[in-house]
Amino acid sequence: MDPLTSLDKKHLWHPFTPMRQWCAEDHVPLMLVEGRGCVLRDQFGNEYLDGNASIWTNIHGHNHPVINAAIVEQLGKVAHTSFLGFTHEPAVRLAKELVDLVPGGKITRAFFTDNGSTAIESAVRMALQYWKQNGRPQRDTLVAFDRAYHGDTLGAASLGGIPIFKGSGNYFGYRVITVAGPDDLDLLAIDDRNRIAAVIIEPLIQGAAGMRLWPQGMLKRLDAWCAAQDVFLILDEVMTGFGRTGKMFACEHEGVVPDFLCLAKGITGGYLPFAATLTTERVFEGFLGEPHEGRTFFYGHSYAGSQIGCAAALASLRVFRDERVLEQLPAKIARLGEVIDGLSEARQCGMIAAMTVDTPDLSMGAKVCLAARKHGLLTRPVGNTVVLMPPLCITLDEIERMAGALRAALAEATSRAA
Ligand SMILES: *Cc1c(COP(=O)(O)O)cnc(C)c1O
Repeated sequence: MDPLTSLDKKHLWHPFTPMRQWCAEDHVPLMLVEGRGCVLRDQFGNEYLDGNASIWTNIHGHNHPVINAAIVEQLGKVAHTSFLGFTHEPAVRLAKELVDLVPGGKITRAFFTDNGSTAIESAVRMALQYWKQNGRPQRDTLVAFDRAYHGDTLGAASLGGIPIFKGSGNYFGYRVITVAGPDDLDLLAIDDRNRIAAVIIEPLIQGAAGMRLWPQGMLKRLDAWCAAQDVFLILDEVMTGFGRTGKMFACEHEGVVPDFLCLAKGITGGYLPFAATLTTERVFEGFLGEPHEGRTFFYGHSYAGSQIGCAAALASLRVFRDERVLEQLPAKIARLGEVIDGLSEARQCGMIAAMTVDTPDLSMGAKVCLAARKHGLLTRPVGNTVVLMPPLCITLDEIERMAGALRAALAEATSRAA
């Protein structure tokens, strides 16, 4: 075992990873040393297509010259300064660009944190505090959906509907009602309905649930229900934001503008930890008052509004414009649909494709992904679901190669099992 690998096994603890198996003598972890475009290279010099965009984050490819240059340029000025009581140009420019990206003009404010879970928690806390100090203190409940995933911090995990990600299942400081779909909302007891502060959903597609598609029109219906009850709609676009579904934001497919839009993963093109909770002037105004009135949103993280994070996010948005990224997606989305056609339970939402191996062996997804490495493809399963979710810059030829590798891996892994 090379020295770095032994040190890893001695001192590291990896996320979502059964560590006994990781540390086993015969396990050789991949160490990724370099990336360019959609291609990653390991410590042995092997190359792979980044089939899940480095856990759903990468948008324009690795080592993009425009994003690299923007980060370097910002580093030459300053890397990070406090956003508590100070401001800076990259944050101001980014806030303006982000709110302008959302159609309709209702979204006017950006609150910055540094990951998807805190983008969600910010929205939840804003929603609860808003009602508490604006005449509806009984609204102490969030509605979330079965099999939802909104992150791993205790507050975000409280909204989750997937038992293994949820942990103990306790709620941390606020009530959560879980429903299966919009029909359930009308069936809620009147007392429960009166207590709803906000409904939160991953629009169009639930990611961690195994790429589960919502029926078309569902988001629109949900939005209408929330508007009729005057309840906030929080959209978790941590995965679906920034072109992933074919439009800049998934909510645009159904003409919905939420009260809170939570963005993270792709916001910097997948380069730096950064997140934004976008909201409306109505919500913002609900927090105004004299300091002694206690209406202020007392929440924030040390790295909120990181200057290099803002610089990377601005550069990513520039690449969207300069390379006409959204305009090129229809052809790629069509090709992605063609290459997965015929696979078991094949499904697609824009640049997200998934298939589920039909077998009782629950480790088959992992086996397929391991086999795919030998064919030059890196991805990660969700149970028996294998996800193809490449950077948006992937070429048509690379889409073909990615699917070829998946088919070869499927054949190998399933024949070995038979
Ligand atoms: C990844 C993800 C999160 C959590 O984001 P982190 O940055 O990992 O905390 C929340 N919601 C959705 C839909 C996600 O895919």
